[in-house]
Amino acid sequence: MTVDLAATAVEEYRARTPVSRGYFDQFCRHLPGGETRSVSHYEPYPVMLAEGHGALVRDMDGNEYIDVLNNYTSLVHGHGFEPITEAVKAVLPTGTVFPAPTEALLELASMLTGRYPAVGRVRFTNSGTEASLLATRIARAATGRHHIVIFSGGYHGSIPEFLDGGAQVVTVPYNDFDLAHKAIDSSVAAVFAEPFLGSGGVIPATPGFLRAIEDSAHSVGSLFVLDEVQSLRNSLQGTHAELGLEPDLLVMGKVIGGGLAIGAVGGEASLMDLTSARAGGTLSHSGTFNGNVVTMRAGAASLRALDELAISQLNRRAASLSEAIGAAAGRVGISASVTRAGSIMQVHLTDRPPVTHEAASAVPPDWVSQLHLALLLEGVYAAPRGMLNLSTVLDDDLLTEVAAAYERAFARLLPFLEAGRSGDTISR
Ligand code: PMP
Repeated sequence: MTVDLAATAVEEYRARTPVSRGYFDQFCRHLPGGETRSVSHYEPYPVMLAEGHGALVRDMDGNEYIDVLNNYTSLVHGHGFEPITEAVKAVLPTGTVFPAPTEALLELASMLTGRYPAVGRVRFTNSGTEASLLATRIARAATGRHHIVIFSGGYHGSIPEFLDGGAQVVTVPYNDFDLAHKAIDSSVAAVFAEPFLGSGGVIPATPGFLRAIEDSAHSVGSLFVLDEVQSLRNSLQGTHAELGLEPDLLVMGKVIGGGLAIGAVGGEASLMDLTSARAGGTLSHSGTFNGNVVTMRAGAASLRALDELAISQLNRRAASLSEAIGAAAGRVGISASVTRAGSIMQVHLTDRPPVTHEAASAVPPDWVSQLHLALLLEGVYAAPRGMLNLSTVLDDDLLTEVAAAYERAFARLLPFLEAGRSGDTISR
């Protein structure tokens, strides 16, 4: 029964997306698994996207979707946002990258130091992953220690030692101060934390947790590194300012690049000067595309438009959408809950919002993938894992459509869930 229900949805999906399916076979001949980014894969095959306009994306078969994934939170103004496209167009004819300081570099750097209290000085990279790597190097050089403490369910990029639990990395549960405190000793160079577990299920920190971790790190001379790659979109001066935290290093990315590849590390001058050739810093840090003109101009345009009003509207709309999705689940009679941090949300197929990463990941994976498939069939492009987030171009009418699509997707899912968990996974 359950297998048939899953197969029916997959058949409908295949019937709607023959071009994507055909292309996927070609992709697999050239790229391992047909992709170059693990999160972009899902079964039976991903839709191939052709275009994005504002809050909508269109696939190669011509199907349109409301985009609530926004390239994993980075496209805070949606696709083709005019101030960003104009800024990029303006620089293309006159040089995209120079091995020299430019006015564009100064523009974005000064915006970051002006806006975020933890950022006295900033160095740019091309991804959040590289920024985490640089923060690790700075912390190790500053303390002369090697151990790093991270939280389970946390994500700081595709860095082998963070992903695979390297020998010098200690992983502790998020929101469990006692266990973290025990692990934070004088061998620790830095404690890395996110303001909420992002890819770990959008699990907010319990009140006071981050402050206690910061104090614990400082009490043994370790650095406290706050990873705001996702959370910068949620408050004007960053979550650190909102919570009164004073991280030694801030890891940044996503919205500060206006949709282009970016990462950055910020901190007090004394610490950041470890990378300064002028101040005799011991860390050499280069990158062919660090601080390139296109990204700097796109990032500046993105941040200018992400002002206090835009952020409060994003957060208010996200709160309403969370409620609407919860209410839709109630009407359909399905167990679902929504966790939220600012304008980033995750729909969980659980009675109550999970408070740990482990609880969030305990849901059968085929339930999660069936909901994702049902949403695609209903015209909503969300993350396969259940995460969604808003862009400033998603207006109230579109959000009403999103909530209605969730209700229809829940209705598709109900018989699947009632029939019990299928042992089969969706296959091509
Ligand atoms: N830190 C956090 C909190 C992230 O969410 C991500 C990306 N999802 C990264 C770091 C890595 O950023 P990037 O994908 O740009 O390497």
